[in-house]
This record gives sequence, C-alpha cells and structure tokens, in this order.
Amino acid sequence: MIHSRLSCGETVRALWDYVDHALPGPMRDAVAAHLATCDNCAGHVAFAQRMLGAIATAPVEDQDVARLAERVRVALRTEAAAG
Ligand SMILES: [Zn+2]
Repeated sequence: MIHSRLSCGETVRALWDYVDHALPGPMRDAVAAHLATCDNCAGHVAFAQRMLGAIATAPVEDQDVARLAERVRVALRTEAAAG
C-alpha cells in the first residue's frame, strides 16, 4: 500500500498510463482511488479519455500519433502545474 495516497500532481503524472491501461496494479488502484474522491483529477481523466478516443479514430500515421500524445502529455502537465 505504498501508493495508498497520491497527490493531485502524482495522479495527473500517472494519468496517461492509467487511461492507457499501462500502470501496474497497485499504482492503478491508487490512481482510481484518488480519482474517485477528486473532482479536479476526474476532469483531467475525462479529458485524457476524450483525447485517446480522438487519437484512436484519427486516420494518421503512427509517428503523428506519438507526437500528438506527447503534446497531450505536455498540456496535461502544464494544466496541472497551473492549477
Ligand atoms: Zn486530485
């Protein structure tokens, strides 16, 4: 239970891997627990899931997807730092 309590910053940093189903179990549980009680981070995950949906349906090359994903990560970090 190392990750039983995450800060908003930690949650947002893990968010992309969370929506991408790339987190190890304990970390995933910790993120889910935080999201269940934090409206701020719940808004972030909704945004990330919309972005993933848009990426999944966009007819672009793999490289473009990687670049777009990186832009989304930067945007999420910037948004988290701002508020
Ligand atoms: Zn939070």
